[in-house]
Amino acid sequence: MGHMLIIGGGVAGGTAAAALRDEGHDGEITLLARENYPPYQRPPLSKGYLAGEEGTDAAILHPAEWYDEHGITLRTGVSATSLDPRAHRVTLSDGGELSYDAVLLATGATPRMLPLPGAALDGVVTLRRLDQSDALASALRGGAARLVIIGAGWIGLEVAATARQLGNDVVVVERDRVPLAAAVGERMGEVFRRLHLDHGVDLRTAVDVSAIVGAAHAEGVVVDGETVPADLVLVGVGAAPDTGLAEDAGLRLLNGVLTDSALRTSAPDVYAAGDVANAFHPVLQRHLRSEHWANALGAGKVAARSMLGLPASFDEIPYFYTDQFDLGMELSGYAPLMAGAEVIVRGDLEGREFIAFWVDGGRVVGGMNVNVWDVNENVQALIRSGERLDPDRLRDADVPLESLLP
Ligand SMILES: Cc1cc2nc3c(=O)[nH]c(=O)nc-3n(C[C@H](O)[C@H](O)[C@H](O)COP(=O)(O)OP(=O)(O)OC[C@H]3O[C@@H](n4cnc5c(N)ncnc54)[C@H](O)[C@@H]3O)c2cc1C
Repeated sequence: MGHMLIIGGGVAGGTAAAALRDEGHDGEITLLARENYPPYQRPPLSKGYLAGEEGTDAAILHPAEWYDEHGITLRTGVSATSLDPRAHRVTLSDGGELSYDAVLLATGATPRMLPLPGAALDGVVTLRRLDQSDALASALRGGAARLVIIGAGWIGLEVAATARQLGNDVVVVERDRVPLAAAVGERMGEVFRRLHLDHGVDLRTAVDVSAIVGAAHAEGVVVDGETVPADLVLVGVGAAPDTGLAEDAGLRLLNGVLTDSALRTSAPDVYAAGDVANAFHPVLQRHLRSEHWANALGAGKVAARSMLGLPASFDEIPYFYTDQFDLGMELSGYAPLMAGAEVIVRGDLEGREFIAFWVDGGRVVGGMNVNVWDVNENVQALIRSGERLDPDRLRDADVPLESLLP
């Protein structure tokens, strides 16, 4: 079956490598990972790993020996620098070249930096990689830093929670009126605002950041004209898909690398998965680019099947989780449909123990369980069923979720 090449050492790439073997591929597999680690997952980087409660083993999918044992050539610290789909070849940062029979682009995404005066000062950081989490940790573990976070997205708020729990002063500044409104709507965004205010985060919304100031090192952030003192500034304003290789190779791009539901790109034998891929979703009948761990995991498996010519379709319901302070949450749903939907709450919103359903035309299109566990499968089944449901029964915590399923 030839040489399977994977570019990228995140969850998508690492999972695809393992899945190729699980699916019976007995030929060559090579994984190129730009970073100096075996493939790893990023959620701990803003949570337990940053807090010092977990080590690198919480992040790394498999130790380096595992790749040897499975006959997978893992090349860390090496990037693919160009891709020639016609010749089925890539060039490498160490001057080498590789030919392939099928290649997976699992290059992930890179944090956006704001085009602000002072953005290049020392002490202005983003968070994507293990080494960046290490650097943040060394600044925050002493517990006496003044951290300003620009952007109240998931990563910004997770770091805010961890930094507060380590005893630091944390200011979060956000342009929108309500944190996370774009992801979960204003009503649910307010739950996160309350959570952070209750734990002593100085969360300021509907504000404008105009500059970061300091001599060589960041000393403050100018927010609505006021300078908020800072020892460290984290910019958490989203990430852009890493499409450089694909673009140079002439692949079709639109908010990432476009693929069909089998994760095939516009070039023969070139596949894409994870944060970089904008994949056609067979249920939604539109392309969807999801920047979540479960998407990278599921897509890595599907991409492996597809690379081997096996039937493959990536049709999972997007799933995301977060942990902040004493709040644990899982969210399943189709973001494009959730945007205009009605939110129905079952449980205790004030006490932060509830399930929120997004309902569109009587059908559940999204569900978020907050400090309520072992319900995600049922939430996903409700979404998948497409059944029209009685909103009162959905709202009523005494009606078991199972009884709502067809
Ligand atoms: C701090 C943090 C916390 C997160 N927490 C959560 C969470 O709680 N829940 C959740 O669902 N999601 C979370 N996410 C999102 C999740 O981590 C991403 O969706 C996931 O990492 C995507 O995996 P990926 O394999 O597509 O890409 P990535 O993890 O970005 O991996 C891609 C890898 O490819 C490498 N690469 C790029 N170009 C090349 C090249 N040319 N050659 C070789 N290598 C290359 C990159 O250096 C990178 O290491 C979090 C993300 C971050 C940064």
